[in-house]
Amino acid sequence: MKLKTLLLVGLFIQIVFAQDFEKVKPQDLRSSVDFLSSDVLKGRETATQGELVAAQFIRSKFIEAGIKPYFDTYFDTFESTRFKGINVVGFIEGIDPELKNEVVLLGAHYDHIGIAGIVQNDSIANGANDNASGTASVLAIADCLARLGTNKRSIIVALFSGEEKGLLGSKALSKKLKTQNLNLYTMLNFEMIGVPFIDRDYEIFLTGYELSNLGDKLNTYTNSTIVGISDVAKKYNLFKRSDNYSFYKEFKVPSHTISSCDLTNFDFYHHVDDEIDQLDFVFMATTINKLIPGFVQICNTGSKEIQMYATN
Ligand SMILES: [Zn+2]
Repeated sequence: MKLKTLLLVGLFIQIVFAQDFEKVKPQDLRSSVDFLSSDVLKGRETATQGELVAAQFIRSKFIEAGIKPYFDTYFDTFESTRFKGINVVGFIEGIDPELKNEVVLLGAHYDHIGIAGIVQNDSIANGANDNASGTASVLAIADCLARLGTNKRSIIVALFSGEEKGLLGSKALSKKLKTQNLNLYTMLNFEMIGVPFIDRDYEIFLTGYELSNLGDKLNTYTNSTIVGISDVAKKYNLFKRSDNYSFYKEFKVPSHTISSCDLTNFDFYHHVDDEIDQLDFVFMATTINKLIPGFVQICNTGSKEIQMYATN
């Protein structure tokens, strides 16, 4: 073989190898959701022992994946007028000397509502879909990206407390990071991603799809039509109902929630029956594995391609 051919083959292998990643497995997602939604954690209500145990679990997952704390410690506590909460915040530093100053933030709330109305002797709202599913997804994606180690931009991985009490954790963290002049590129939030739609031509929707080009870019980057528009999400303005909104308000950069539940395909929202047996882990893993190359692209494009659309 000629030297030139050899070099070309080498380059090809490098490219294929660089884009390959260890796939997220359904059983990894299941084991995280299983822990987070177990009765022992009593529904992970903010400022309870159950929520603290969930925070400790998230921290152990960060350590396992080699994800460092963003601040001095993994636990970033905040105080609102009513609650003291803990955001768990990890960091995967970018490898490009310039681009590492730009940050992609992956987030999900890990708290839930605690004890709810009794149904058949069960009063624990386990919050498997809302939002152990989003938390498990973010942990799996972060683990994958950390092991891959190719991200040019830096990644903050934030699991929020206090969402169910009024987006308290994300409000506190977004304000703090704004004060510290964080160069935030985009914020991707994960909510209720454990139950598939049965009647759509896409797998997930973005809240506030029409506000930026993120949805279109994710489809382009993943060479798919995985992301779509939910009219129900638009009608109920879900864009403003999860932690992405706190970051949009502070930074005015593309900040959206990725979800497969607009409440039309799940009967157990804030209900004691939001339990692990409702979730489809093969769907979750397949969806996440399709999205990961898109997240890699977001971290690595030379310029900031994800942008807000101009509003009148
Ligand atoms: Zn939620």
